[in-house]
Amino acid sequence: LYHRARFLLSTLNFARDVPDKGFEVAFAGRSNAGKSSALNVITHQKSLARTSKTPGRTQQLVFFEIDAERRLVDLPGYGYAKVGGETQQRWRRALEEYLRSRRCLRGVFLMMDIRHPLTEFDRRMIEWCGYYDLPLHILLTKADKLKYGRAKSTLLQVEKALAELPLQPSVQLFSAPKRMGVDEAHAVLDRWLAT
Ligand code: GDP
Repeated sequence: LYHRARFLLSTLNFARDVPDKGFEVAFAGRSNAGKSSALNVITHQKSLARTSKTPGRTQQLVFFEIDAERRLVDLPGYGYAKVGGETQQRWRRALEEYLRSRRCLRGVFLMMDIRHPLTEFDRRMIEWCGYYDLPLHILLTKADKLKYGRAKSTLLQVEKALAELPLQPSVQLFSAPKRMGVDEAHAVLDRWLAT
């Protein structure tokens, strides 16, 4: 199913450009967390998410269509110095507005580099998801960079750190080059995007 994902459009004005119908799952992550790589592996494509890194699109929501009913939405990471205050403000507002108002949004995938989990960016996303009652699924990316034992103990630590949250997020290990965790990610998407 996910291999059918195709770039639809990128926009800041999502409410105008993409009808709030069907089902969406959003992908979030700090820059360099491995979000594009995860999106590519999950959709079995080589460069789908490169589209998200096209200059001009890095501050927009990027919509990928799986079929007429289902979409994946790339929410570019913000917080990097390159863009100025006003652009960043605008982007942040759009992102929060999307999470707040989007009725077809079924949940959020948050990518965190397993070597630096729970950054300030991540904590803010987790807080927003809690605030807007959005199911959250966390991928600890680049799991291949750690020995399996270390990766596993980080997974447990992150689960523990989030255990007190009202809508307890699910957490998994992921590695793009090793294709680790792809089935698990698909299972969550299947559940959220089921009609
Ligand atoms: P994005 O900015 O979040 O979209 O991050 P990218 O997907 O572009 O990845 C950032 C860097 O991390 C790139 O150099 C990737 O090759 C590398 N990377 C991403 N995922 C993995 C992974 O699972 N394992 C390893 N070893 N490297 C990864």
